[in-house]
Amino acid sequence: NNEIITPDKEFEQKLRPSRFEDFTGQDKIRERLELFVQAARQREDVLDHVLLSGPPGLGKTTLSYILADAMDAGIKCTSGPVIDKPADLAGLLTSLERGDVLFIDEIHRMQRSVEEYLYSAMEDFVIDIVIDQGPNARSVRLNIQPFTLIGATTRAGMLSAPMRSRFGLVNRLDYYDAATLAIIIKRSAKILNVEIENDGAMEIASRSRGTPRIANNLLRRARDYAQVKADNIITAELADKALNLLDIDDDGLEEMDKRILSCIINKFGGGPVGINSMSVSVGEESDTIEEVYEPYLIQEGYLQRTAQGRVATARAYAKFGLVPPEK
Ligand code: ADP
Repeated sequence: NNEIITPDKEFEQKLRPSRFEDFTGQDKIRERLELFVQAARQREDVLDHVLLSGPPGLGKTTLSYILADAMDAGIKCTSGPVIDKPADLAGLLTSLERGDVLFIDEIHRMQRSVEEYLYSAMEDFVIDIVIDQGPNARSVRLNIQPFTLIGATTRAGMLSAPMRSRFGLVNRLDYYDAATLAIIIKRSAKILNVEIENDGAMEIASRSRGTPRIANNLLRRARDYAQVKADNIITAELADKALNLLDIDDDGLEEMDKRILSCIINKFGGGPVGINSMSVSVGEESDTIEEVYEPYLIQEGYLQRTAQGRVATARAYAKFGLVPPEK
């Protein structure tokens, strides 16, 4: 079922809005960023560094492309874990033109040495590179073009304080409400050339765990279903059937969500349980549990995170028709 959480890039690209006008929801962040762009443009300045945080699929990459476009700037993309050593970063940094955006996804997973290397680049647009080898090796300071770093992270808490303080603008994206997701779904349906009724869009929206990426993917699956089983029109009833087939329940929870909750309740007496025990027990990596599944379960009130570990709430018990034990 993981395809729902990580779809293919081509599909994603096709549905990605390229201008602020088409980016629905997150009104405050959008407004703030638009103002920020306008101010920088008026001053003929380079946009200050931006940090975008929040669960996967909420629009961090999309916003970065929109920002670059609005600044008439180029964009280069990389990701924290793929930058092995400072030299890799130096190559990227020296290739940037004035005003370009360097997008670093999963910036919280950058190595410490690479991160520290980035500081002087962000602050003063200079980097130190080592030339020559052995006894002749020496470091030279190099100017680079002023650029905008856009960092994206699913775990803002894991970013070091010095890194965080170097961003001029810090934004946290939140889960979308169903009405907003329905608008996004209708826009995507238009691009995909599939007919969808309002109720159909709402049905998908309310089961997309507040996430545009998932909404788009469920739309795609509903489209397949409509094509094979109906007259290519996505109604509420059809959407419901298509999503049931994917084991996505009425609350938008999928198999892994339920496995996590059931594990806490049935194997660990409702908790508290540590992330590592849970990871082994449900057969999913702890990072994925923490970054993808848990935030939504917490926001929806199924799960609580305490200092001792994860605890199932009354709502989680109710999900399985159970009553929480008396404490
Ligand atoms: P992230 O970088 O946060 O993981 P992305 O920016 O890659 O998320 O977005 C995932 C998908 O969801 C993209 O295909 C994009 O088109 C869509 N999407 C995200 N946010 C929005 C939005 N506000 N409006 C319309 N589509 C969106």
